[in-house]
Amino acid sequence: MKVLAVNAGSSSLKYQLFNMPEKTVICSGIAERIGLDMSIFSLKFNGEKYEIEVKIENHKQAIALVLEWFAKYKVVGNLDEINGVGHRVVHGGESFDKSVVIDEDVLKIIHDLSDFAPLHNPANIVGIEELSKALPHSIAVAVFDTAFHQTMPAESFMYATPYTWYTDYGIRKYGFHGTSHEYVSKQAAIMVDKAYNETKTIVCHLGNGASLCAIKNGASIDTTMGFTPLAGIPMGTRSGDIDPAIIPYIAAKENMDAQAVIDVLNKKSGFLGVSGFSSDARDISMAVAEGNERAILTLNLYAKRIAEVIGAYHVTLGGVDIIAFTAGIGENAGDVREAVCRRLTALGISIDEEKNLATRSKQTYISDSNSKIKVAVIPTNEELVIAEDTYAFLV
Ligand code: ADP
Repeated sequence: MKVLAVNAGSSSLKYQLFNMPEKTVICSGIAERIGLDMSIFSLKFNGEKYEIEVKIENHKQAIALVLEWFAKYKVVGNLDEINGVGHRVVHGGESFDKSVVIDEDVLKIIHDLSDFAPLHNPANIVGIEELSKALPHSIAVAVFDTAFHQTMPAESFMYATPYTWYTDYGIRKYGFHGTSHEYVSKQAAIMVDKAYNETKTIVCHLGNGASLCAIKNGASIDTTMGFTPLAGIPMGTRSGDIDPAIIPYIAAKENMDAQAVIDVLNKKSGFLGVSGFSSDARDISMAVAEGNERAILTLNLYAKRIAEVIGAYHVTLGGVDIIAFTAGIGENAGDVREAVCRRLTALGISIDEEKNLATRSKQTYISDSNSKIKVAVIPTNEELVIAEDTYAFLV
C-alpha cells in the first residue's frame, strides 16, 4: 500500500510517499518559501533530485504541484494507488490524544483550534481539503503535534494563572513536536534495551523550532513548549520563555501593539536576535570558531538553557536512562551537544569528545564509558510516524 505523509508548515510543505508496511520511501520533497517572491519546489525520486524555482502563492498551489510532478515523473501510475494520506496537524488542543481519521467533525475541531495556532492549523486544513478532493479514494488521517503530550499531569500543564483562564479559554501548556518526541523516545528505549514503559528519557529536539520532553514509562510528563510553540528554550528566531512584563514595556517604548511584539519574539529573536546576524546554527558555529563574541554568547545562552531543563527533568523523572539529541541541530551540531553536556558534569555525564564531534545524522551513543547517564544522537523521523499512524487505519 502507498501512504503519503504531508507536513504543511506556515511557509513550507514537506511530503514523503511510503510503501507500507515495508516503510520504504518512494519519493520525498519540499515546497519552500510559499507565499514569498520565489519559491523552491523539489522532488527526490529514483536516486534523482528534481528542483525548480517557481512562484507558489499558497498551499493549494503547492499541493497541485506535488500531484502534477507525481504524474510528470511517473512516481505513481495513477493517483488512486495512494491509499492513505497522513497530515501533520500542529494543534489538537485537548480534543485529540491520538491520531484520527478525518471527517467533517474532526475538520471542524481543527478549524476551531486555529485560534491557538493561526500560522499552522489553517495551512494544515488547506492540505487536508485539497488532497481529499484530489484523492477521493484515500483515507485522510490527522497526526497531531500536541497528542503525545496529553498524558502530562495537571501540575505540568497548568500555568499559575487564574484557574478560569484554563476553564474558560483553554490557557494551559499543550506542547508540540509530539511525533518526534514519541519516535525518538521509542528508539531510545530500544537502544538501552529496556521496555518502553519502563524507560526514563529526555529528548532534546533541536531544530529551527526546539523543545525538550521528559518521557517516563512511555508517556510525556513534561515538555518545554507551552500554550504556543513560542515557549521554552531559545530557537532560530524565537525567544523561548521571557518575563511577560517585557511585552507591554517594549510595546510602549517602540510604539507597537502586543501582537507586533509577539511577532518580534517569534521571528526576530532567538539565535537571530542575540547574534544579530543569523538564525542558522551553522552560521553561529562558524562565527564561534572565528571568535565572534555575540555568536559565543548565543551558543552559551542556548546551551545553558538546555542544560537547565535537563537538570529539571532529571529531578522530575527521578533519574534518567538516556538523553537523546535529535533534529537538525541535535543530530548534526557536535559543538552544541558538547556545550550542553559540558554543563551536565553534576549529573555525572561525560561524552567521548572525538566521537561526538564526528557524529552526524547517525544513531549512536556519544557518552563515554564513565558517564552515569547514556547520551545519544537519534535521528528523528516524523514522516514515518505519520505514515505508520495512517497505515494503522488501513489494515
Ligand atoms: P525545522 O524542521 O524545525 O525547520 P531542522 O530540524 O531542519 O528544522 O533544523 C534546522 C537547524 O539545523 C538549523 O539551525 C541548521 O543550521 C541546523 N543544521 C542542519 N544541518 C546542520 C549541520 N550539518 N551542522 C550544524 N547545524 C545544522
